[in-house]
Amino acid sequence: MSWFLAPSLVALRDEVNARFPNRDKSSDGAVGDTSHAARKSSHNPLWSAPGNWSGVVRAVDIDSNGKPGERTPVVDALLNAAIGDPRAWYVIWNRQIFSVTYDWEPRPYDGASPHDHHVHISVLEAVKAWSDTSPWLKEADDMFSDKDREMLTRIDTRVANLQRVEKIRAELERETDAKRHQQLLAELSKVRADLDAS
Ligand SMILES: [Zn+2]
Repeated sequence: MSWFLAPSLVALRDEVNARFPNRDKSSDGAVGDTSHAARKSSHNPLWSAPGNWSGVVRAVDIDSNGKPGERTPVVDALLNAAIGDPRAWYVIWNRQIFSVTYDWEPRPYDGASPHDHHVHISVLEAVKAWSDTSPWLKEADDMFSDKDREMLTRIDTRVANLQRVEKIRAELERETDAKRHQQLLAELSKVRADLDAS
């Protein structure tokens, strides 16, 4: 028999790779090395798991794609995804551990590795937590870049100005007072200048 990563965690890693296609994978990991093997770790294959599950690895490390401890979009996506997910047991990132056992309240983590290059995710010791491959990642918080946002704001301003033009035009048609008529024309000319500038 050989070890294998729980399908639920394969699904998580695949989702992260799909959202961040060019991320650094150098500190990714699944199965425990010899130092892990010497202690209790969910990176070690669980040979005593029932039936075909023998050899399942219940933890994955996913590279943060940034400088040590940097809160990158990969880190944000992983913490948002794993914390509170019914499959997850605990998550370690940058000297902090979040565990379902403590209602996901962050606690200091002082293990051998500070986990400032990768996020560690362990799933619960249950077949359901290993087999469930339903999506982990939440919808991206913001699908727009700053440039897109700027463009949308400019369009909104333009639309608002066009609506003002329409309103002033309608009022002009009805206005019989000469002074007010002049005021409206001045307003219209100002809005037109704004429109030309946008
Ligand atoms: Zn790990």
